[in-house]
Amino acid sequence: MNIRDAYGPNRFGLSFEVFPPKSLEGDRQLATELEKLAECRPAFISCTYGAGGSTSKRTLEWCGRIQQEFSTPAMAHLTCLNSTADSLKHWMRQAFDSGINNLMVLRGDLPRNASTGGEEAPGGLRRAHELVTLARELSDSIGIGVAGYPEKHPESPDDETDLLHLGTKVRCGADAVFTQLFFDNRTFLAFRDRAIRAGIQTPIVPGIMPVTEYDSLVRISSLCGSVIPDELQSGLEAARHDPVAQFEFGVDYAIQQCRDLIRHGVPGIHFYVLNKAAAVRLIVRELLFDARDLSPIAGRTPGKQLASCDKDLVAARQTETWY
Ligand SMILES: Cc1cc2nc3c(=O)[nH]c(=O)nc-3n(C[C@H](O)[C@H](O)[C@H](O)COP(=O)(O)OP(=O)(O)OC[C@H]3O[C@@H](n4cnc5c(N)ncnc54)[C@H](O)[C@@H]3O)c2cc1C
Repeated sequence: MNIRDAYGPNRFGLSFEVFPPKSLEGDRQLATELEKLAECRPAFISCTYGAGGSTSKRTLEWCGRIQQEFSTPAMAHLTCLNSTADSLKHWMRQAFDSGINNLMVLRGDLPRNASTGGEEAPGGLRRAHELVTLARELSDSIGIGVAGYPEKHPESPDDETDLLHLGTKVRCGADAVFTQLFFDNRTFLAFRDRAIRAGIQTPIVPGIMPVTEYDSLVRISSLCGSVIPDELQSGLEAARHDPVAQFEFGVDYAIQQCRDLIRHGVPGIHFYVLNKAAAVRLIVRELLFDARDLSPIAGRTPGKQLASCDKDLVAARQTETWY
C-alpha cells in the first residue's frame, strides 16, 4: 500500500504512529498493542525515527514487524539533521529493499541549546525539503509524507513563512501532509484554508493525540506548543484524581474532535497513539459506528475482530488497570 492510495473519494485514511521502545519489556508491550491496533485495519502504521538517527535500525526493524507480523503497511519516519546525504541514501535503500513503500520525511528537532537555522553535518542536509528531493531522486514511486504545523513551527516567524516552506516540501515531491497534534479544530481548519489558498493540493491529514491524563496534557503542550482549550484543560483537571474518569474524558474529547473533522471533509486521521491501543480503539470503534451518518467513512464497517474485542474493552473499562 502506498499512501497515495490511502486518500481520495470514498476512501478514508486511518493511520497510527508508534515509536521504537527502549527496553525488551517495551518491545513485548508494543507487539501486544500492535496486534490490537492492526485489528482497527488502518491504512498504515508509522514508526518514528530518533533524533540524529538514534533509532535508525530500530525504526526499520519495527516497520518490518508491522508489515510481516501484523500484516499492516508501514511508513518509516526519517530525519536528516546531522546525517550525511550518503548515509541517508543508504538507509532509504535498505528500507525500500525490505519492502517499505512509504516514508515520513522530516528534518528533526534542533538540539535544545542550538540557535535557529539547523545543524549541518559535513555533506549533510539542513531542511526537510532537501531530504524529500533526495528521496524522490531514489524513487518516483515511494509514498512521501511531510510535517505541517497548524499553529506554525516554533522556529517560524509567522504562519505565512511557515506555509511557504511547507509548499516547498510539497513541490519537491511530498504526497501528503501530516499535521502536528492540535486540540482546537479551528486552528486546523484555518491552516487548511490557508494551505489551499497557497496552492497546496496534497491531502492534509490532521494529527490527533488522545490525551487521557492531566499531567501529560501539560507536558505535551509545552513540548509541541499546542494551545489547550479551556474545556479540555478544565475537564481533565477536574478528573485529575480519578484515572478512569480522566481516561473517559480524554477519549470522549478526541471522539468529538474527530467527528467534527470528518464532517469538515478531512481525508483521514493520523493518531499519535504513544504505543497504547486502548484509547484509539475506543475512538475508532465510535467513529465506525457513526459511519452511517458520516459518509466519508461509510465504506468501512467495524472489523469482525474489532467488534468481538469490544466485550473485553467494556469489561476492562470497569477496572482501573486496563490502560
Ligand atoms: C507528523 C510528524 C511526525 C514527526 N516525526 C518525527 C520523528 O519521527 N522523529 C523526529 O525526530 N521528529 C519528528 N517530528 C518532529 C520534527 O522533526 C520537528 O518538528 C522539526 O523541528 C521540524 O521538522 P520538519 O520536517 O517540519 O522541518 P522543516 O520542514 O525543514 O522545517 C523546519 C523549520 O525550518 C523552516 N524552514 C524550512 N525551509 C526553510 C528555508 N528554506 N529557509 C528558512 N527556513 C526554512 C520551517 O518553516 C520550520 O520552521 C515529527 C513531526 C510531525 C508533525
